[in-house]
Amino acid sequence: TSKAAHRSVDSVCPYCGVGCQLKFQIGRDEAGEEKIVAVEGSPGPANENRLCVKGRFGFDYVKHPHRLTKPLIRKPGAPAKGLNVDPANWQTHFREATWDEALDAAAGGLAKLRGFYGGRSISGLGSAKCSNEEAYLFQKLIRQGFGHNNVDHCTRLCHASSVAALMENVGSGAVTATFNEIENADIAIAIGCNPTENHPVAATYFKQFTKRGGELIVMDPRGQGLKRHATHMLQFRPGTDVAMLNAIMNVIVEEKLYDRNYVEGFTEGFFQLREHLKGFPPEKMAEVCGIDAETLRTVARKFATAKAGMIFWGMGVSQHIHGTDNSRCLISLALLCGQVGRPGTGLHPLRGQNNVQGASDAGLIPMVLPDYQPVKDESVRELFRSIWDGTEIDPTPGLTTVEMIDAIYRGQIRGMYILGENPAMSDPDVDHARDALAKLDHLVVQDIFLTETANFADVILPASAWPEKTGTVTNTNRQVQMGRKALEAPGEAKEDWWITVQLARRLGLNWGYQHPSEVFGEMKMSMNSLKNITWGRLEAEGAVTYPSLTPDDPGQAVVFGDGFPRPGGRAKFTPAKVTPPAEVPDHEYPMILTTGRQLEHWHTGSMTRRASVLDWAEPEAHASLHPKTLRRLGVAPGERVEVRTRRGAISIAARADRAVAEDMVFIPFAYVEAAANILTNPQLDPYGKIPEFKFSACAVAPA
Ligand code: SF4
Repeated sequence: TSKAAHRSVDSVCPYCGVGCQLKFQIGRDEAGEEKIVAVEGSPGPANENRLCVKGRFGFDYVKHPHRLTKPLIRKPGAPAKGLNVDPANWQTHFREATWDEALDAAAGGLAKLRGFYGGRSISGLGSAKCSNEEAYLFQKLIRQGFGHNNVDHCTRLCHASSVAALMENVGSGAVTATFNEIENADIAIAIGCNPTENHPVAATYFKQFTKRGGELIVMDPRGQGLKRHATHMLQFRPGTDVAMLNAIMNVIVEEKLYDRNYVEGFTEGFFQLREHLKGFPPEKMAEVCGIDAETLRTVARKFATAKAGMIFWGMGVSQHIHGTDNSRCLISLALLCGQVGRPGTGLHPLRGQNNVQGASDAGLIPMVLPDYQPVKDESVRELFRSIWDGTEIDPTPGLTTVEMIDAIYRGQIRGMYILGENPAMSDPDVDHARDALAKLDHLVVQDIFLTETANFADVILPASAWPEKTGTVTNTNRQVQMGRKALEAPGEAKEDWWITVQLARRLGLNWGYQHPSEVFGEMKMSMNSLKNITWGRLEAEGAVTYPSLTPDDPGQAVVFGDGFPRPGGRAKFTPAKVTPPAEVPDHEYPMILTTGRQLEHWHTGSMTRRASVLDWAEPEAHASLHPKTLRRLGVAPGERVEVRTRRGAISIAARADRAVAEDMVFIPFAYVEAAANILTNPQLDPYGKIPEFKFSACAVAPA
């Protein structure tokens, strides 16, 4: 294969929320077809030429022989729906169809259910891997085409609880400062996040920060790569975040280290918080969280007295039944110390997927329309009525991702349109979710591969991979960036926005979009966040951070220096009480299972396990256990263990890992052959409706 490139295309990485800008180098394969022969980092605002292994080597999935190249329709008499389709031999279950035939079948099946059971019998899952324009169209299709708000995406499995707490207490779900602001900080707390694996380019900024003397405090029940750069590593007991953080705030309040002027000028609810924190003395909480009182006091004093401090968090904070309470504590901690709104200060939940921020901003959420405008608000519905040809918006919030699965069991949901999401791998208690998908009367799946979820489809619509389309995406930093088409899609595969438009037309909607730029133009009519950001600017500048205050402003890295988008401009303290995990270890299930990602594989593995370098680096599922635990079990590294919870059991190779506590097991969720989510607990946080992926009681035994 020639490695020579004859042209290059500027775009954005499709993996994590860092949103690295990159250059696709395009050459040709032996048959003369264009392909990506190399990828280079570009000087984007988030990455300044850096890329991680996924961004550099993770793209040959686009040419994988498993790519869907023609629409497929389930054959009459095909085997019963289940996880039973071989992606290389799908002809046993599906037949090829023309686009007209497949779109008629997809829309026809949904329209039939709408006619017989009503629009609420349909729900939609959009994708944080598609563009902002595609996310906007998807939620519009569900709301306008079916008359309700049963539309969601993977934010529900990711940072929904963080967003709930941020909306409640600072009035905005986005970060208050870019992660690059760490270069202006003196101290940073990284809690429940593992950037060296999950946000690797962001991690390079964390490391630079410590090299120039910044104090990094890592809080994580599991050891991790940032540990050796940290001045303090608080390896607290899983699920005890609230106890630990309240104890830290107790010290700050009792020792009067809080920023009194800031608290008086910019917040409300301090007195209730102060009373609440009296119940969390560090000596008492040390017994709960496993961190000694002196360390809690030291960390509290350092954070409160630093000139500029930031707080970063990830799914270790959000994926609990008390995920919203965890985030409330972090917000209160920053507000108490006045560590918001200035250079080097801020709250930053590190976003997972490349466009989970943008898809959320675009309204792919059941409670809110674009820009988090509540469906319950009549003036908001009136705004969208005026933009969407008089469409009446349902004032009732819709169902969330996990709630949709239960609604299928109740017979309330009978049809689904799923774009680029893979609930047959990503949902908690995934056997329960798979059985639900099999019960649907009509399932339309739009994707680039015949995913585990597509196994259950009635119609499969072949879509474009990220390098095969043009559109905007928004990263964890609120940077709206332009992704540009680098390759033609294989066979008859089409761009996602085009497919959604064709379905909408067949469902009776008067949609005439010809290009994503027209969709972006419509988004600007209702989204204040896009003020001063135009398609033309994004084409010329590559990225603009919102809010952008003038047509020339590259955007504000730090926000809320002069108050918050809440009544009176004040942020709020919401005291958080200690809630035990939904399932505590007992005699039968004595260990704690936690799940997550790993550097080489992305989410359910549909792309990275088909990228040859990444698959070579991590070809097999593994469960990480402490060497002492393995010795106690009589299992050598590489041998198999059975991990069992109340939901099910998997057999998986064991890996020795000193970073994991002795009563814990960590399993990445990318591997279908040992699917971690067969084990996970579907109990939800009551506010963010996010499941407790980070804590399930489990038993481990030699397999
Ligand atoms: Fe892509 Fe994230 Fe890696 Fe950047 S850090 S190259 S956005 S996966």
